[in-house]
Amino acid sequence: MSDYIIRATAAEDCIRIFAATTRDLVQKAHDAHNTSNVATAALGRLLTGGAIMGSMLKNETDVMTLQIDGAGPIKGITVTVGVEGIKENNLSTETSNEENNNLNIINKEGNNRGNTENPSIPVAGLVHVKGYCKNPSVEIPLKENGKLDVGGAIGAGMLTIIKDMGLKEPFSGQTELISGEIAEDLTYYFATSEQTPSAVALGVLMAPEGGTVLCAGGFIVQLLPFATEDVISALENKIRTMEPITDLLKKGNSPEDILHLLFDDMGLEINDRLDAEFKCDCSKEKVSKAIMSIEAKDIEEMINDGKDIEVNCHFCNTSYKFTPEELSKLLKNKNN
Ligand SMILES: [Zn+2]
Repeated sequence: MSDYIIRATAAEDCIRIFAATTRDLVQKAHDAHNTSNVATAALGRLLTGGAIMGSMLKNETDVMTLQIDGAGPIKGITVTVGVEGIKENNLSTETSNEENNNLNIINKEGNNRGNTENPSIPVAGLVHVKGYCKNPSVEIPLKENGKLDVGGAIGAGMLTIIKDMGLKEPFSGQTELISGEIAEDLTYYFATSEQTPSAVALGVLMAPEGGTVLCAGGFIVQLLPFATEDVISALENKIRTMEPITDLLKKGNSPEDILHLLFDDMGLEINDRLDAEFKCDCSKEKVSKAIMSIEAKDIEEMINDGKDIEVNCHFCNTSYKFTPEELSKLLKNKNN
């Protein structure tokens, strides 16, 4: 697994920063859904934003859903995020996650990806994301600047973020899409729905012939309430003058490289990293339970049809087949 998210701070903890490389998980999403280039870019950006926001979750039972509903030809995108093995306060847990670190060093050496990522950064857990778009085969012309027209594919609409933290009611925030380019939409969401001034950059670079994700990643930078005017204007200046995130990634920069490039002069402190992957938790057992929740007469109807049925998981496109005999068994269990 080579995707990960770095968590860092700068300007004496006035700024918190999350930076990610997500090429492999975006590729996996593409391979699962056979998305067109523009659909891969759109889904990949939301998966990347979701993975980064996932690194802000505190508990393994927390589930976050990011949903875009738009009037454009892609129609909608849904991404769900969770975390595993999450560790709080990682700077002081050297002994408890030593094993993890060792494992990671071995993996990294085996990978030999030729960048400057630092295996000594403590690993704080794993973020898993899954997602899909309603119309994965959408094709629309490139923008005038030759870039994929993600905003055009999504169109005008809404961004909804639901965080289920195991409380009585899940937190839900909804904002209008600003451009449909996703990074700007998340920036606006953070400002209006969570009152956190943020800068978001997300990028997916596809090989022109399609099918291959060359690089993907992004960052979220957030100002904490006690940030001074000087810090705010220095940050604004940086964000305004920085190279596009895909250009930085294309040059082979790791998330750490990008953070050093942007924030070394603001007292960057890298805290820890979370691995990230595209992973779905569906199984035949879960699908069986879903079938058992259908009304008995509807299951009977399927059995009487005498044909196998196929149930498809939206998130990972895996299909599960059930024979009439299996359906009869499920119906029997349902009735018991
Ligand atoms: Zn699935």
